[in-house]
Amino acid sequence: MEIVCLDLEGVLVPEIWINFAKKTGIKALEATTRDIPDYDVLMTQRLNILKEHGLGLNDIQDVIADMGPFPGAKEFVKWVSTHFQLIILSDTFYEFAHPLMKQLDWPTIFCHKLETDENGMIAAYKLRQPDQKRQAVKALHGLNFRVIAAGDSYNDTTMLGEADHGFLFDAPENVIAEFPQFPSIQGYEALKEAIRNASVRDIPA
Ligand SMILES: [Mg+2]
Repeated sequence: MEIVCLDLEGVLVPEIWINFAKKTGIKALEATTRDIPDYDVLMTQRLNILKEHGLGLNDIQDVIADMGPFPGAKEFVKWVSTHFQLIILSDTFYEFAHPLMKQLDWPTIFCHKLETDENGMIAAYKLRQPDQKRQAVKALHGLNFRVIAAGDSYNDTTMLGEADHGFLFDAPENVIAEFPQFPSIQGYEALKEAIRNASVRDIPA
């Protein structure tokens, strides 16, 4: 009884905020937690910028839909879902993930939530639970599942540590250097191989 947990951004789809900033040309939206470490300050700034530019949730979803998943992501999700149950654990919001989940054939995703006002503008965000990726893996262990997990960044490392097998996937050099305990893997074919090897079952390639 095994479950695969995958991060979303950087693993199956591009970084949503960075690419949204590029596609819309709104420079100020390029700020990340590296520039503004306080997540609440960063998110409040992002929501204010969206409002200033008159961008409602529908406009944002159109831009996100246009980003699409990474090449090969859909096939990879299909392969994982054929041999395992798959849960995507992401720190994005359901409303942002929705157009991308459609393009990945609707895998299960646990993430956070946005609130919109009567004009369709994003009014607030709601984090479902702190350290939710790790909490999800803990809960799955409580349900007697083995967990194989992969992610690309800092917000994945507690999930990777909690899982029975945790892999860094296409991670930046600084993350790989800081977390040598997690095998670093590049590309979907290599990740398939790592997941097959981590599994207690015989999984076809
Ligand atoms: Mg990521």
